[in-house]
Amino acid sequence: RKLGYAIVGLGSYGLGVIIPQFKHCQNSRLVALVSGDPAKAQRVAAEYGVPERGIYNYQNYDGIRDNPDIDIVYVCLPVSMHAEYTIRAAKAGKHVLCEKPMAPSSADCEAMIAACKQAGKKLMIGYRCHFEPYNLEAIRRARVGEIGKLRYFRSEHGFTANNPSAWRLKKAMSGGGSLMDIGIYALNAARYMTGEEPNAVYATERTDRSDPRFREVEDMIEFELEFPSGVLGSCMSMYSANQNHILLMGDKGRIELEPGTGYRGNRLWVGNGRENEITPPPGPGANQWAGQLDHMAQCVLQDRQPIVPGEEGLRDIRIIEAVYQSAREKRRIALRA
Ligand code: NAD
Repeated sequence: RKLGYAIVGLGSYGLGVIIPQFKHCQNSRLVALVSGDPAKAQRVAAEYGVPERGIYNYQNYDGIRDNPDIDIVYVCLPVSMHAEYTIRAAKAGKHVLCEKPMAPSSADCEAMIAACKQAGKKLMIGYRCHFEPYNLEAIRRARVGEIGKLRYFRSEHGFTANNPSAWRLKKAMSGGGSLMDIGIYALNAARYMTGEEPNAVYATERTDRSDPRFREVEDMIEFELEFPSGVLGSCMSMYSANQNHILLMGDKGRIELEPGTGYRGNRLWVGNGRENEITPPPGPGANQWAGQLDHMAQCVLQDRQPIVPGEEGLRDIRIIEAVYQSAREKRRIALRA
């Protein structure tokens, strides 16, 4: 059976990336759109076969309650709007898939988790790399000990942010700079590649505040993660260069991905350098997005907890808050277990 999705926010990700994936899905179909632009909504509805009754705007959004076609709401809005649109969806009796980063603060994340729990609805965060074959293969090889005892993890993630008026560069809408948007991939990878939760963080920020893009949010931020096993994690993100890299160093070899968390074109090497390139087996879906959309639908159909639930989004946001605190106070911040 296919469950019905409503996509909230027809921006570059919701419209440009997610909506075209439903044709690759087994258990998911597009049944509704939420947009502030009626002409765009009509055009997209016509293109993807969404019926008139599935077209909503931000004012009549709560009317999704009365649309039985909609099982799951997928929130693809600027970060500051995630909590409101997740909580309203839960109150309307819908399950929620919400984009990363979950929200600008851990308090918002907690409110989102509580609202979904109270409504008896599932909440998943759009961590697509948990459905991406190269990442899954790297995790598998690390876990079976192919590189021996893991000692060090490193990841750099960045892209060049060009438009100073974009919501990503407005702190009130984004919650923060490169760390919130793209550094979260390095952080999340540090946690899923090691399989551990960090005990402490130490961070340094470097931002040219005279650059009009960075009046409100950080450009470069680097943070160390101390893991209980003794693994040291070293992550960095930036908005002033393109980078997408993951490296695991064990006492018997290395696992390296570059790009590691791209939409496509990821590459993986295992061994002592880049001699041994690996082609992973297929992931759970036709691609990472189909895997993600169908996982949520299957969790609803089978009453299972998603592998990346709201609690996973909250964990990252708590660590991000500690990273920002560490950079501000120039000291190591211990994390609560
Ligand atoms: P975007 O700016 O392209 O799209 C945002 C959409 O929200 C637009 O359609 C815009 O019209 C709408 N919107 C409604 N109210 C708005 C308001 N008050 N201000 C600004 N926009 C408003 O952004 P995007 O790149 O599509 O990002 C949307 C979400 O998806 C973010 O949470 C982002 O982090 C996430 N994202 C995830 C991935 C991924 O790989 N998982 C990739 C890109 C973006």
